[in-house]
Amino acid sequence: MKLNQDGLLVVISGPSGVGKGTVRQALFDMKGHNLVYSVSMTTRQPRAGEVDGVDYYFVTEEEFKKRIEENRFLEYANFVGNYYGTPRDKVEEQLALGNEVVLEIEVQGALQVKERKPDAVFIFIAPPSMTDLEHRLVTRGTESYEIIKERLEKARREIGLAPEYDYIVINDDVHNAADRIMAIIRAEHARTKRCLDNYYALMEE
Ligand code: 5GP
Repeated sequence: MKLNQDGLLVVISGPSGVGKGTVRQALFDMKGHNLVYSVSMTTRQPRAGEVDGVDYYFVTEEEFKKRIEENRFLEYANFVGNYYGTPRDKVEEQLALGNEVVLEIEVQGALQVKERKPDAVFIFIAPPSMTDLEHRLVTRGTESYEIIKERLEKARREIGLAPEYDYIVINDDVHNAADRIMAIIRAEHARTKRCLDNYYALMEE
């Protein structure tokens, strides 16, 4: 019998442009894990190179709203004019299989998950500085000046929510950040509250 059999829900969040996506990619590129990425649903238009069903499920606003009514999201948020949400069924399915499910979402959604799944691990990815964040948003070059400005203002407010999280990981270097997240996941598995029942069962064998 293993000491811990339950899959862990890992929420990676933080301001737009902080590099959550790149950190998540580096995390998934690491060897020897059973992480499963929860592909989100969105009403935003695909960017060049994005693939439906891999990067996001791209749907119409009508389709998204229908799913909200049907209570099919674990969380959802309207972020700078578009909807983004986590399909509930896939997350539950993977957790039941004992896999680690990783969500990469903005902060409003993360706070909803905290209400609904308090056992999840909440990791806030922070920029090394505001200047660094601005630089990243500008050089990404995928949004107009107005949208970048809006995202930066939003980022300032989002950074204020960092105390709601279990861990803060500064994205000074993408591989270091991914390493620290992996260390957090491993340590969380050894937490007494997560493995106590199985531990007692082991001692009875
Ligand atoms: P982008 O348009 O740059 O892909 O994403 C915008 C923001 O939405 C990012 O902060 C991203 O992490 C977040 N996001 C992506 N998927 C979800 C989701 O399912 N739920 C929530 N709440 N935010 C999401």
